Amino acid sequence: MSDNKEVVNNLTLGQGFGNNQGMISMEQKKLSTIVLDLDNTLISSSEKIIDDTDYTFFIHEPNYDNYFGRVRPYVYDFLALLPTTFDQIIVWSAGRANYVDHICYCIFANVGYVPHVILSRKDCVESTGDKGKKYHKPLQKIFTEYYADPQRTYLLDDSKVSMEHNPPPNCIMVKPYFGDRTDTYLRDVSIPWLQTLSH
Ligand SMILES: [Mg+2]
Repeated sequence: MSDNKEVVNNLTLGQGFGNNQGMISMEQKKLSTIVLDLDNTLISSSEKIIDDTDYTFFIHEPNYDNYFGRVRPYVYDFLALLPTTFDQIIVWSAGRANYVDHICYCIFANVGYVPHVILSRKDCVESTGDKGKKYHKPLQKIFTEYYADPQRTYLLDDSKVSMEHNPPPNCIMVKPYFGDRTDTYLRDVSIPWLQTLSH
């Protein structure tokens, strides 16, 4: 992971361009990438008080909201394996940016690294359907703006909305998580899937 990670960091800093010696060939440096949804994929948040929380925090914009939540069982085992499998780790939630930042702080503090990129609602494409607004996460954005390899990029998400613009194999629907402490989906399905990719 280290070589490609360095490329991403350089690009983020706007370096690596401007002379032939440091020129990066994007064709050669497409990154294997995992894009992670948060709500009901890795965590379960509620604005109502729940017992036995893994995190609680308060956000005062745009409303005064308290959040209470649980982390899906085996999240830390799952996240710990990602750097050995993917060049680039992206979080993309349809939540508001300040909420997403809080959740990332809560869960990644326990795994020893931070995502290369954190995207939120403002990065989604919005549409209005019968049941209100939908927030789409077109992976094309990841391919073009973050040098992700379309052949080796996967979005893990519990939402059918995400499937509408990102059909399999790039989008992998996960079983929604609603706070069950006995949930074993990541252990039984997602971690074995990662292991198939790394061989
Ligand atoms: Mg979700």
